[in-house]
Amino acid sequence: MAAAQGIPVLILKEGTQRSYGREAMRNNILAAQVLAEMLKTSLGPRGLDKMLIDSFGDVTVTNDGATIVKEMEVQHPAAKLLVEIAKAQDAEVGDGTTSVVVLAGALLEKAEALLEQNIHPSIIIDGYTKAMNKALEILDKIAMPVDVNNDENLRKIAYTTIGSKYAGQGPEKDKMVDLAVNAIKIVAEPKPEGGFNVDLDNIKIEKKKGESLMDSVLVRGIVLDKEVVHPGMPRRVEHAKIAVLDAPLEIQKPDITTKIRVSDVDQLDSFLDEETKILKDMVDQIAATGANVVITQKGIDDVAQHFLAKKGILAVRRAKRSDIEKLAKATGAKIVTSVRDLKPESLGYADLVEERKVGNDKMVFIEGAKNPRSVTILLRGANDMLLDEAERNLNDVLHALRNIMREPKIVGGGGAPEVEIAMQLRDYAATIGGKEQLAIEAFADALETIPSVLAESAGMDPLDTVMQLRSLHSKKLTFAGVDVLNSKTAENMLDINVYEPLLVKKQVIKGASEAAIALLKIDDLIAAAPPKE
Ligand code: ADP
Repeated sequence: MAAAQGIPVLILKEGTQRSYGREAMRNNILAAQVLAEMLKTSLGPRGLDKMLIDSFGDVTVTNDGATIVKEMEVQHPAAKLLVEIAKAQDAEVGDGTTSVVVLAGALLEKAEALLEQNIHPSIIIDGYTKAMNKALEILDKIAMPVDVNNDENLRKIAYTTIGSKYAGQGPEKDKMVDLAVNAIKIVAEPKPEGGFNVDLDNIKIEKKKGESLMDSVLVRGIVLDKEVVHPGMPRRVEHAKIAVLDAPLEIQKPDITTKIRVSDVDQLDSFLDEETKILKDMVDQIAATGANVVITQKGIDDVAQHFLAKKGILAVRRAKRSDIEKLAKATGAKIVTSVRDLKPESLGYADLVEERKVGNDKMVFIEGAKNPRSVTILLRGANDMLLDEAERNLNDVLHALRNIMREPKIVGGGGAPEVEIAMQLRDYAATIGGKEQLAIEAFADALETIPSVLAESAGMDPLDTVMQLRSLHSKKLTFAGVDVLNSKTAENMLDINVYEPLLVKKQVIKGASEAAIALLKIDDLIAAAPPKE
């Protein structure tokens, strides 16, 4: 017995830091709040920009929540969790990233106050879960249906998303809206239960410097920023049977330098003959499958190009991986990693493959692909900055359109739904009673952070504004919210064309609640010592 005394039992490695119970929770909440606090000032149309400088000294100036959290190198695990939520929100719906972090921060701040009153985390978690479910139910009830079969409605949504960007550039705005609406309509697949499935992977955006934005076009198919490799090859192939390869049509050179000793000219010839034969065999194998177009991610040797040209096969080399994948999806081809594995059934199909001149360059157009839902938006513009900006805006619009097509319903913006849900949640809380009631009320208070932050960004008094909104909502003005651009409250945000897809709002509330709940479940923080230099 005595021998066991005084011997320390080491379970954790030396240098490991541990905090638990209230301390761990407080640490986590604090870290998450710091992040949320930072993002607050970027919320809404009058949100301010952040200037981020990475370890290489590169500067990014943005007020886009997703970009901010991606660029920031967050250390604390709890803050990292919020970063993950924002990224998930971005990937899922492509919008609402700032909101989700701000709301999660607010939920945690209110939870902290309850913890201070010695309310057990599990009660807060139960209350928050109930509140979240109720909030989603309320959202469904207050949302307004939109007829997405009517192009006019889609255009309206697209214009709202582009908003103030391209201000004073009417025709360019119209052009972007046209491109996005037409592309989405081709890609959308009706779902039996209503709404549409829209896979944005089917829309490829290809940027090509030159001319102007007004010369951008929508192509039904895929456009590759590549040219046909050999002058002897056809420039146009109809009824194209396309081999999509992730394999070089080259002799694999060994990594180490090899010396081949040849003693006479005949030997050298036979050695070169052998190489030529291997390449010719490769081309023969491809031709035997019936392929008349080859597109590979890797290189094509000059000799192989020559044989391909002789067979009348159009070939493109060094295509981007993402293009290869899109191409395979569009044409129904299988990406083959070795020519030996190429079979007739691995080939894809398109009505036409053609090299065309675009500005000063040549590009390869693959049109009438097997999958008719595959399109490319070919953006034109005078310089790279303009093109990048156009691509970002187009992506925003495409996401907004996809969200509305998936679930054709909208709610007002400007904090309107948050105030409405908060009001209804407080009534609901009263029916639950006990300490959980306090948690549900805390959830309601947290939601009102959104209108309050928006009011602040517009130079209005946040508290007064929320009070005014509460009073409007009690008069059944469901979509009364903050008109940020005019610094006043509006009785119906829909009337001033500020709204959001229901899908985005639901995802914001779900994502933020789940993040807050996940952090409230952690009562032990064990951090390994950083590795020694
Ligand atoms: P997020 O990254 O969360 O989408 P945003 O900076 O886009 O962040 O802000 C979105 C919030 O701003 C939403 O609550 C939205 O309703 C609100 N909003 C956007 N435009 C307006 C406007 N013109 N007036 C009032 N609120 C607006």
